[in-house]
Amino acid sequence: MSKRIAIVGGGYVGAELAKSLEGKADVTLIEPHSHFVHAPAMIRAVVDPLILDRALIPYDSLLKQGKILQARAESIDATGVTLENGERVDADYIVIATGSNNAVPFKPNTGGIDALRADNARIHGMLSSAKSVAIVGAGAVGTELAGEIAHYMPETKVTLISSEPSLFPDQPKALARGLLRKLQAAGVNLVFGARAENLESLTEPYAGTLRLSNGDSITADLIFPAVGSRAVSGILETLPGAIKSSANRIKTDAWLRPSDLPNVFAAGDVADAGDAMTIVATSRQLPWLSKLLQALVGGAKLEDQKPYKPWKKAPLLVPLGPKKGNSFFVLFTAGDFLTRLVKGKDLFLTQRNKFFDRAS
Ligand SMILES: Cc1cc2nc3c(=O)[nH]c(=O)nc-3n(C[C@H](O)[C@H](O)[C@H](O)COP(=O)(O)OP(=O)(O)OC[C@H]3O[C@@H](n4cnc5c(N)ncnc54)[C@H](O)[C@@H]3O)c2cc1C
Repeated sequence: MSKRIAIVGGGYVGAELAKSLEGKADVTLIEPHSHFVHAPAMIRAVVDPLILDRALIPYDSLLKQGKILQARAESIDATGVTLENGERVDADYIVIATGSNNAVPFKPNTGGIDALRADNARIHGMLSSAKSVAIVGAGAVGTELAGEIAHYMPETKVTLISSEPSLFPDQPKALARGLLRKLQAAGVNLVFGARAENLESLTEPYAGTLRLSNGDSITADLIFPAVGSRAVSGILETLPGAIKSSANRIKTDAWLRPSDLPNVFAAGDVADAGDAMTIVATSRQLPWLSKLLQALVGGAKLEDQKPYKPWKKAPLLVPLGPKKGNSFFVLFTAGDFLTRLVKGKDLFLTQRNKFFDRAS
């Protein structure tokens, strides 16, 4: 009898892992939503909702041999997964890939995909009539959002607020310098070294006045919180030996195990394996985890397998709309041409839709 692998969460980790393992094991993917959410395109979808239909991709053609259960997992133990509806999925190996939450309309909140579509339409409407926008947080999401609005809605006054002293202080200087120059040229007002002291919502944009730690205040027709994702780690927290780190993530051992249970693995945003919460991180973890599980299913011992090693320095691609941007490709930094070609123009929409076997 082939070994059973239950994968909880159908995001970047879960969907790819399930596809890579179907046919090699008895795979069940557990995911509550009807559609995969392609996060990199959800930023542009706020200014250009026409791309939403390609950014939300139905799961129905993903697996040919594996099974997808549209359900939410409630708890796990060494022998399987218990679903919210009380059903049970027995498994020999379990992978937790429950990812993270962010603000709408970037990722769904409790309402699911229909609610996410409604949030996208509502917030696009608010953005279209806004004369001024403030974005709190200048990580990749905040910076890209500023670039998208500046490109598609050049009349809108955009202020990007960061508590850091500069853009991307941990990245190569050429990347940060290039992005700063381009944002300023596009008319974006950048405020560094200032915290928003009265951010009213971390989960959705709103109109209001921000009080900053530097004594200034900024009133905007729309304030976007872009202060980072929080891992969805409830299922793992109560397992024996689980240790929580920053942003609700759970620490993993060298074989991506988040607890004392030897047959339970975790990857992606929920797992603190030494990588950032990015798709770039999942692209390193996935082939390793798929290979490991195939070896285990084939009878190999875990201790004989190579441990996982996180990125030392990971690539970072930051488009500012479809034409401009800067990127760090580990060996070199690049400007508009490569950033546009690799990411900015299509935001990996064609590649993702092909992966899900959808016409692109
Ligand atoms: C707006 C935005 C843009 C981004 N752009 C980029 C980018 O350009 N490049 C990059 O590298 N990274 C980017 N990221 C980060 C990237 O989206 C995450 O790192 C990535 O989604 C992590 O994948 P994951 O599989 O761990 O989790 P997720 O993609 O979050 O997927 C987790 C899945 O688990 C499901 N789930 C949750 N709880 C349960 C449960 N109890 N039972 C069953 N299923 C459950 C969820 O429904 C979800 O489908 C972006 C993030 C955001 C918010």
